[in-house]
Amino acid sequence: MKRSLSALDPARLDGQRALVRVDFNVPVKNGIVTDDTRLRAALPTIRFLRAKGARVVLCSHFGRPKGGPEPGYSLEQLIQPLEGLLGVPVMFIPDPVSDAAPALTRRMTRGSVALCENTRFWPGEEANDPALAQRFAALGDLYINDAFGAAHRAHATTEGVARLLKPAVSGFLMEKELKYLGEALADPKRPFVAVLGGAKVSGKMDLIESLLPRVDQILIGGAMACTFFRAMGLEMGKSLVEEDRIEMARALIERAGPKLVLPKGCVIAPELREGITTMTVPRNKVPASFAVFDIDPATMRDYTQKIVAAGTVLWNGPMGVFEIPPFDAGTRALALAMAEAAAAGAITIVGGGDSAAAITQAGFAGKMTHVSTGGGAALEFLEGKVLPGVAALDDA
Ligand code: ADP
Ligand code: MG
Repeated sequence: MKRSLSALDPARLDGQRALVRVDFNVPVKNGIVTDDTRLRAALPTIRFLRAKGARVVLCSHFGRPKGGPEPGYSLEQLIQPLEGLLGVPVMFIPDPVSDAAPALTRRMTRGSVALCENTRFWPGEEANDPALAQRFAALGDLYINDAFGAAHRAHATTEGVARLLKPAVSGFLMEKELKYLGEALADPKRPFVAVLGGAKVSGKMDLIESLLPRVDQILIGGAMACTFFRAMGLEMGKSLVEEDRIEMARALIERAGPKLVLPKGCVIAPELREGITTMTVPRNKVPASFAVFDIDPATMRDYTQKIVAAGTVLWNGPMGVFEIPPFDAGTRALALAMAEAAAAGAITIVGGGDSAAAITQAGFAGKMTHVSTGGGAALEFLEGKVLPGVAALDDA
C-alpha cells in the first residue's frame, strides 16, 4: 500500500506548496476541450488542497510534442476550462524549469492554483532526467501524484520527482484507482467475472494470463473472439483475425477449460458502414465475404445472465465496433447488464480507454463502482506489472 494524501495531517498542508502531477491529457479540437473527464477527475484533490490552505502547483503532459515547445500542445489552453471548473483564477507558469520559477510559486497565496506548461516540452521528461526532476521538485514542498493514467511511465514528473521531493503521496484519484483495481485482483467478491473484448488479442494476452487464475469466468467478445474461433477451426470470413496468435489462442482454450466463454453467434456484415443491414449467424456459419462486428443477441443474453449473477465484474474492451451503429448493440447490452449488477450490489469496474468511452456513451458511467481513467496504466496494473509512478511513492 502507498501513502495517500488522506493519510497526511491536514493541518500541516497549510501554506505548503503542493506539486501535483495530474493527467490533463484531454482531447482537444480547435482549441476546445471535447471531453473534460480528466480535468474533473483531478478536482477532489485540488479542492481539498485549496481548502487546507495549500498552494497548488499542477503539472501534466499533454499530447506528443516532439521534445520541444509546440503551440498546439501548450497547456495554456487548459487555463480557461480549469478556471471554469474550479471557479478561481489559475496562474500559468510558461517556464516551470527556469531559475525564476520556484520564486513564482513561493509568491503564490494560500489556496491559489497554478498550472505549469506541458512537461513534455522538455526532453528530460520522458528520459526521466534527474536534473529535470530536480527542477520540478523545486516547485513544491511536497509531491502528490494524481496521474494514474501516466503512472506506467517512468518519467521525470511521475517517477524521478517522487524520489526527490518528500513526502510523495498519492492523490485521491490515484488512491481510488489503486483501491478498486487492487481489491478486484486481491480479494474479489465472487463469482468474479471478467469481460474482455476489443480489437486485438495480442495486446490482451498478458491480461488474460494474469486474470485466468483469479477469475471464475472470462467472457470473450469483440474481434478478439475471432482469433479464438479460428483456433477452434472455424472460418471467420473477412473478420479481424490475428493469424500469428491462433496457436496461442488454441493453447489458452485448452488450459482455461470452461472458464473461458466464447460467443455462440455473431452479428456480421459485408463491410463496416453505419446503418448497414446486418445478419445474425451462429459462429460456425460466417460466410467468406462477411466479417464479424458484434456479438449476437443470444450471446448478449448469456453474458447478461452471467454478469448479473456476479459479485465482481471487470470489463475491458468493447464487444463490437461500438463506434459505428448498429454494431454498438452488444456493448450497450453489456453496459446495461453491468449497471443492473451494480444496482444489485456487485462491484463493477471498467478499465481501458475505449471501454470507458463506450460506457460513458451508453450513459452508464455513473452507475459503475469504478470507471478507470487509466487506459494503458490500468491494463498494466491488471496485468500485475509494477507501475513506476506508483512504486516511487512513499509506502503507507
Ligand atoms: P480498450 O481501449 O477499452 O482497452 P481496445 O482498444 O482493446 O479497448 O478495443 C477497442 C476497439 O476494438 C474499438 O475501436 C472497437 O471498434 C474494436 N472492435 C471491437 N470489436 C470489433 C470487431 N468485431 N471488429 C473490429 N473491431 C472491433
Ligand atoms: Mg483502446
